[in-house]
Amino acid sequence: MAGGVLRGVWSEVAAGVAALLFPGTDACPFCGSHHDPEPVGVPAPPSFPCLDGVLLPLAGLCARCGKPQPGDSGLCGDCWRQAPPFARTRALGVYAGPLREAIHRLKYHGEAHLARPLGALLAVRLRQAFPPPDVIVPVPLHPGKLRRRGFNQSELLAREAGGRLSIPVAPDALARVRATEAQSRLGGGAREANVGAAIVAAAPWRVLGKSVLILDDIYTTGATASACAEALIAAGARRVDVLVVAIGLRG
Ligand SMILES: [Zn+2]
Ligand SMILES: [Zn+2]
Repeated sequence: MAGGVLRGVWSEVAAGVAALLFPGTDACPFCGSHHDPEPVGVPAPPSFPCLDGVLLPLAGLCARCGKPQPGDSGLCGDCWRQAPPFARTRALGVYAGPLREAIHRLKYHGEAHLARPLGALLAVRLRQAFPPPDVIVPVPLHPGKLRRRGFNQSELLAREAGGRLSIPVAPDALARVRATEAQSRLGGGAREANVGAAIVAAAPWRVLGKSVLILDDIYTTGATASACAEALIAAGARRVDVLVVAIGLRG
């Protein structure tokens, strides 16, 4: 009987969470269907059964880049050959199916509202996988791309996740500049010129001595995350981790 009452209470709580996540509708933001919220813990993390097939477990991952690998979770071949500059990357899931579709809708179809449920899931993963960072730094967009898109999806995700955990977000900490400009700033061109653009620490005082979490939508080769981590470490960051929505299994 008490269980029944409790269950009723938590159903109400879950309905409240659902209303927060999907204002004006109870349809799932990812698949459009109507999932019944099933609270099992306190507080119940957001649950989307349609994502179950692509979300990653916490074990069986490369200790550094977070790509799934068979057997014990040591280093993958790539990280063994060349250690990345960040401490650890973790993803919500693999870049496939509904997660890939959600990222496309967010970035290319202007569906900025998807940052909300994705940010809620990222907040849960952040707490599971990392010590609390001092600051979250979204990967910057080129200014031209930002003007065309109207928003930086990584910044929206960072604000949603950071807001839920009361962790400050510093979208101005990094900036994308032309490679030539970056090289002159770096005094001698430590970075390769063939990328066409490079990432620099635009506000070093935001990260000096701090534990920093880089947030991005996708991790594929790790080139962008590594460029960001190098810039942050050069600016004095004490530790740099990376959290992404999806990790590509190729590359
Ligand atoms: Zn769904
Ligand atoms: Zn790895």
